Amino acid sequence: MARSFAQLARSAEKTSSSVAVPKKPLDSPPLHIHKLGAEALRVEGRRVGKVDESVRDLARDMLRSMYTAHGIGLAAPQVGVDKQLLVIDLDPETPSTPPLVLINPEIISSSAGLDTYEEGCLSIPGVYLDVVRPTAVQVSFRDEMGRPRTMKADGLMARCIQHEIDHLNGVLFVDRVTDKAGLLKELKEHGFQSKDVHPIT
Ligand code: ZN
Repeated sequence: MARSFAQLARSAEKTSSSVAVPKKPLDSPPLHIHKLGAEALRVEGRRVGKVDESVRDLARDMLRSMYTAHGIGLAAPQVGVDKQLLVIDLDPETPSTPPLVLINPEIISSSAGLDTYEEGCLSIPGVYLDVVRPTAVQVSFRDEMGRPRTMKADGLMARCIQHEIDHLNGVLFVDRVTDKAGLLKELKEHGFQSKDVHPIT
C-alpha cells in the first residue's frame, strides 16, 4: 500500500492541477452519485471530443462530489453523464497532491499476473468484496488539457484505474465477484438487490 502511494505521488507530480479543488466534504455536493439499480450505471460512456472548459468543469464537480463521499475514484456514468471521463485521487488527505483526470482511457496492456484485492464503490456503499484483476496495466488517455498520455500503474492505482474504466463500459465490480454467497450476503445487508448485478461469466 505504501508503495502505491509513493507511485501516485510520482505520477501526480507530472500532472497539471488545473482542475484541483479543495479536498473538503461539502454540505451539498454538485452531483448526485447513482446507486446500484440505477440505469445510469449500465450506460456506456461516449468518447469525449474536444477537451474544453466544460469538460474541466465536469471533472471539478466530480472531484467535489468524490471528496464529499470520501472516495478515491469516480467515473462520469456514476453521476449520470455518459462520457468517458474519470477522476482519481488516491491521496485525498493531502491537499497539495493533484488529482488525476483520465479522458477516453484505454487499457493498452495488462500484466499476466493477477491480484485479489477487496474493492468498494461509491455506487454500492457499504459493500466490500474481493475482486481478481491484473496486477499492473498500461493505460492511454487524454488529460484535462487534452494532451495524449500513457501511464503504467500497479498496486492500488492499477486497481482503481481498472475499476473506473469498467464504469465507462457499464460494468460494476460486483459483476466480477466470484464468491457468490458472500456477494448475496453483502448486498442483502446493505439493502441492494442481486438482480441488479450482471455477472461476467
Ligand atoms: Zn465504482
